[in-house]
Amino acid sequence: MEVGRGDTLLGLLVNASVPRLDAHDAIEALRSVFDPRRLQVGQEIALLFQQESGTDRRFVGMELQPDVDRAVSVARLEGDAYEAVSVDKELRRHQAAASAVIDSSLFEAGASVGVPIPVMAAMIRAYSYDVDFQRDVQPGDEFQVMYERYLTDKGASARDGDILYAALTLGGRRMDLYRYKTRDGIVDYFNRRGESIRKALLRTPIDGARVSSKFGMRRHPVLGFSKMHAGMDFAAPSGTPIYAAGNGVIEEIGGKGSYGNYIRIKHNQQMATAYAHLSKFGSGLRRGGRVQQGDIIGYVGTTGRSTGPHLHYEVLRGGRQVNPMSVDLPTGVALQGRELVAFQRHVEDTDRQFAENLQSAAQVAQTAAASGDEPHPEACRGERSC
Ligand SMILES: [Zn+2]
Repeated sequence: MEVGRGDTLLGLLVNASVPRLDAHDAIEALRSVFDPRRLQVGQEIALLFQQESGTDRRFVGMELQPDVDRAVSVARLEGDAYEAVSVDKELRRHQAAASAVIDSSLFEAGASVGVPIPVMAAMIRAYSYDVDFQRDVQPGDEFQVMYERYLTDKGASARDGDILYAALTLGGRRMDLYRYKTRDGIVDYFNRRGESIRKALLRTPIDGARVSSKFGMRRHPVLGFSKMHAGMDFAAPSGTPIYAAGNGVIEEIGGKGSYGNYIRIKHNQQMATAYAHLSKFGSGLRRGGRVQQGDIIGYVGTTGRSTGPHLHYEVLRGGRQVNPMSVDLPTGVALQGRELVAFQRHVEDTDRQFAENLQSAAQVAQTAAASGDEPHPEACRGERSC
């Protein structure tokens, strides 16, 4: 049977002449592995009956597959108790590779060669230490990416895995990144020289926002006269999440005059970052609490002296505001010695895999073109079992 609009599982079972008490017990058992409120319209559910004497049949369980990679079932045991089990379907790991020239935005370029949006978002996140995507990406720039995909035994895409390799060429400057697991078991992205791309501070603490006012002298939009603007403004809709630019301790959180709702994070002896005009703070944050880079610390708003929803962002060095765009960000770790040698081998392997994957993608696309088919987005990706 199939779940229709407004159906409840109990209603469906009772309609299928499962005794109400049995239906209730079976659903209670199911709850341990699957929340029945997550049932989607169109979900198939198989009800299992055992033929009894005459036309009687006895309800003995049910099965459904709520996710591409998971099936759940409920079985009636002796003594009329019910037991639920969840079975993960085995997924096959594939590699996919893509390469494209950017016309307008990186997202569009990714979509044109069939790279899933979450993969593009992960790539943007990985490069966000070095690249301001609003400012630095121009038409004619290029990107390449190789990432994992998990497929079901029927070949359906179950989920995307990690980015294994990416390259971004902006204004002729090429930046590679390689996913690498060190012998200590730390997984991180490194450039070709074996330096972690992770920086102490993110370039921008907010996704996809436009810079509406830079650091420096400007005419104040509310007060009218020229005044030093001690931070950077990012215009974004109210409620847009704001991320901690780096690991640190919350030094101040709460209302702060013209700043409105304000939070300041101390990253080390020298550096701090501050975020103002927030509509609200991230949940569970308090003064003295620790945050990790990328944690949501609040949401864009227009509290305090502000003309519209935006984030006012400050970087402070030794307590004084500095230009967030020109502050030199300390780099993370660099691989050395035997670790660096192992990494260099990994780089060679990855480069070769990427070239192979991309070539097989080109062949698939060519075959599709030769047979007169419209090249399907799937055909533009290199894929290889691994
Ligand atoms: Zn501002």
